[in-house]
Amino acid sequence: MEEKERYRHLNKYLKDKFGERTLKICVDGGFTCPNRDGLKGTGGCIFCSEKGSGEHIKSSQNISTQVRNYFESYKATRANRFIVYFQNFTNTYDTISHLKEKYDAALIDERIVGLAIATRPDCISEPVVQLLKSYADKYYVCVELGLQTSNNKTGELIHRGYSSEDFSNAVLLLNKYGIDVVAHMIVGLPGETKDDVQNTVQFLNQHSIQGLKIHSCYVVEHTKLADMYRSNEYVPITLDDYLDYVSYIITHISPDVVIHRVSGDAPKDLLIAPTWNLHKKWVINGLDKKLKEENLWQGLYFM
Ligand code: SF4
Repeated sequence: MEEKERYRHLNKYLKDKFGERTLKICVDGGFTCPNRDGLKGTGGCIFCSEKGSGEHIKSSQNISTQVRNYFESYKATRANRFIVYFQNFTNTYDTISHLKEKYDAALIDERIVGLAIATRPDCISEPVVQLLKSYADKYYVCVELGLQTSNNKTGELIHRGYSSEDFSNAVLLLNKYGIDVVAHMIVGLPGETKDDVQNTVQFLNQHSIQGLKIHSCYVVEHTKLADMYRSNEYVPITLDDYLDYVSYIITHISPDVVIHRVSGDAPKDLLIAPTWNLHKKWVINGLDKKLKEENLWQGLYFM
């Protein structure tokens, strides 16, 4: 008998939604972040790398070229449906006309069925959401929203530059226009305990979110977190603890939420610690094994 899925995987969700395998095209829209350009701060979040979480994207190319190159590569032969994903930095941080230009520049192929935008909660406003909504007739639109933790004290420590209340307001605004929200959560942030993980899950369950990305806190070069790690102010989470926390999250999050990822995508050449982060399979297979052995599944303890 085939083993049942113990949590809602993104791939299956997309396949059901679009009727076939659907892949993401990661794009660098040439944005910056208010936490880097001085509006909110200059150093960024303490874990954020110089590329704003998009090391594998060739950002020197313009947006249309990035998409065109993708379709000319072998990657495009693996599916017929694609979602353009604006990943690096804060992809709603510009004027409305510039945002429209950038999004339009990516939507240049009939095989593209969706637009996914990663951003910060304090860069979601009604005009931005109205612009995103204007694409919803033709495309599936979703916004990936950083939260990381519901603990505002940790938020300050990591120099997030927005509050959990900002997150709530942004979710409400996106809900108002029927745009899917994918929350980002980081496990193993400095000073955080299992209580923080529990509180963050509870907090997320109080919101109407449609997706969740979970990853471990990892240390990369040229970040404040790297300095903290080297001066023993920060000790990364172990793989065993990470799997415990992720299984807690899976069993307590709403069964309706699609799990977009359970592991980070640490840039190999910049990663300092923990090194287990380079082995996605250890995380994915370790989690599957744990859920199976302990007979756990998504939403088991959701109330
Ligand atoms: S909000 Fe995102 S892009 Fe901006 S500094 Fe933090 S992690 Fe980096």
